[in-house]
Amino acid sequence: MAGSVDGQMTGARRRLVELLRDKGIHDISVLRAFDLTARHDFMPTGVRHRAYEDTSIPIGSGQTISQPYVHARYLETLALTGHEKVLEVGTGSGYQTVLLSHLVAQVFTIERIAALFNTAREAIRHAGATNVSMLLGDGTVGWREYAPYDAILVSAGGPSIPQALVEQLAEGGRLLVPVGSKDEQTLMLVTKRGGTVVSREIAPVRFVPLVGTQGWDRE
Ligand code: SAM
Repeated sequence: MAGSVDGQMTGARRRLVELLRDKGIHDISVLRAFDLTARHDFMPTGVRHRAYEDTSIPIGSGQTISQPYVHARYLETLALTGHEKVLEVGTGSGYQTVLLSHLVAQVFTIERIAALFNTAREAIRHAGATNVSMLLGDGTVGWREYAPYDAILVSAGGPSIPQALVEQLAEGGRLLVPVGSKDEQTLMLVTKRGGTVVSREIAPVRFVPLVGTQGWDRE
């Protein structure tokens, strides 16, 4: 219905997709995933009016839903084909989880904070994603049961590349992980090919701390 909240949100979402395109995101399937996913459904009610701003926004428990452009950059860098099994470390709001659900065959996602895990589970269910499996726990050690993964996305910044995640990459797999201090990091792309692991810098980024056995001790 014209003028309804949902109608306004649809218009705002279309404008966000255009903005991402203007900022250099050209992968049609990535832009389509943003068009299909209602970001406001992954945010606390008090900040939903800001859902289609290209900024990170607090979601409670001292955490944030990441900036849409950063999500888009992650997803485009991975050059996903639709057939992948993917691990996401740091479910947070569940928004990127649902973006991924449109882009790959299977999504495995891990969150360490129970309150966020529970809210994200509801939002992911509400979005209708049926190819997502969730775990409450420390994602720095990965999820060995379902390894290896074609791609691993880490949504929080650690002091170094978690070796457990490198081990759980499939042949030809790609791992995106922010590495640096607690305040600023460099997004690293790690690839595994022919038994050789190569890492390269992608961009400067700012994420909340990756807390765990192979991350920071505490926030
Ligand atoms: N992509 C998410 C989004 O946009 O909602 C990002 C959320 S936030 C930037 C990063 C999340 O990583 C937080 O929810 C935090 O609790 C989680 N996190 C930090 N360390 C973690 C760990 N070792 N295992 C799992 N989740 C972790």
